[in-house]
Amino acid sequence: MRILIVGAGIGGLAAALGLQAAGHRVTVLERAERLRTEGGAITLWPNGVTVLRDLGVDLAGLGAHPSAVGLLSARGRPILTIPARELEARLGAPPLCVARMELLVRLYEGLPEGTVRFGERFARYVQRGRAVRVETESGTVHGADLLIGADGAWSRVRAAAFGANVPKPTGVATVQGLVPSKIDLDGRSLMLLGREGDAGFGPAGDGRVWFFFDVPWPPDGPAGRPLEFLRRRFGGWAWPAHDLLAELTDDDVEVFPNHRHAIPRRWGRGRCLLVGDAMHVMPPFFAQGTNQALEDVSTLLRLLGQGEDQLKRYGPLRLRQARLAAALATNGRFVKEPLSLVQSEPVLRLMAAAPGASATAAIVAILRATSNRLP
Ligand SMILES: Cc1cc2nc3c(=O)[nH]c(=O)nc-3n(C[C@H](O)[C@H](O)[C@H](O)COP(=O)(O)OP(=O)(O)OC[C@H]3O[C@@H](n4cnc5c(N)ncnc54)[C@H](O)[C@@H]3O)c2cc1C
Repeated sequence: MRILIVGAGIGGLAAALGLQAAGHRVTVLERAERLRTEGGAITLWPNGVTVLRDLGVDLAGLGAHPSAVGLLSARGRPILTIPARELEARLGAPPLCVARMELLVRLYEGLPEGTVRFGERFARYVQRGRAVRVETESGTVHGADLLIGADGAWSRVRAAAFGANVPKPTGVATVQGLVPSKIDLDGRSLMLLGREGDAGFGPAGDGRVWFFFDVPWPPDGPAGRPLEFLRRRFGGWAWPAHDLLAELTDDDVEVFPNHRHAIPRRWGRGRCLLVGDAMHVMPPFFAQGTNQALEDVSTLLRLLGQGEDQLKRYGPLRLRQARLAAALATNGRFVKEPLSLVQSEPVLRLMAAAPGASATAAIVAILRATSNRLP
């Protein structure tokens, strides 16, 4: 089949790899002149890692496998720890933290030269019979048997297929970065929780640490420089928040305002399907954006392998998992008023008494419930 993918993000490139390996002729149209390598780090949960392994992506030397995922109170009290080896034992793959740029480049390098056409901005398409005709802004025309919109949150493919679905700002931003740091996390990814909100830290390989702080974000952002704002809000928190904030410079922080789609039942129309943020942009909390994009790709490949007629099951199969992931990513954060009980130090202290096994079981259950791929 001739397959045209719009968008060379992680979703589009992963789909291209899998479809090419399945024997299809694939072309990717990307509006930018080169790979868009901005962004911080991505956490791949066992489902994301499994899909990448299925695609034959060589993950060696990429990022860092955290030894555990831990929760601390803002005062630094350990609340719970989930050993990564437990996740691997139950779900078949370990989590992996990787710079978005490095994953993107690794996927791109797996494709034959010329697969991605840069500087090609999708404008419109028409479907005639079983064929699709795509036109770009510069007037280039491409024919295909299947069109996949992987063109991100403001997807033009989606708008052309069934009307725009403009993502809504959630009123929260993730202020994040990826920096060389001497802070020794002992290989763990850590989340801190307190009255001011939540924040996360973890190793990303090559002596780098990724970090994020979720903060309320009015339409024009808060007054002052983002780093100043973080120091005011989180400066009183314990290690590693306090220590990292002291190390950072203004250039180290990037503001990533969060958006969310209402995810409809329909995931495609005729010979056009959508994957990733084009279908379901969600806040990066709980690292679901990339994992859900990879889940889409995995389901799409599996169905296409069973026959073209099976593609009608794509949306119905993914809907529940993607909606749950989006709900967790949006409502799991501890940013908006009113404050929840778990943001208070005494309740966190009580939680620390709970057996570690129940936290592991809860994460395993969540990861299974948001996946179509995990056992
Ligand atoms: C620049 C950038 C930085 C990011 N940083 C982070 C981060 O730090 N942390 C995090 O968790 N997530 C980040 N994300 C989001 C994360 O990568 C996605 O949630 C996830 O990987 C799923 O991505 P996707 O492939 O569906 O869409 P995207 O990653 O948004 O990729 C869509 C691609 O489509 C291209 N495109 C858009 N419109 C057109 C068009 N009309 N014609 C042709 N091409 C088009 C875009 O240029 C882009 O390359 C970032 C995304 C981007 C684009």
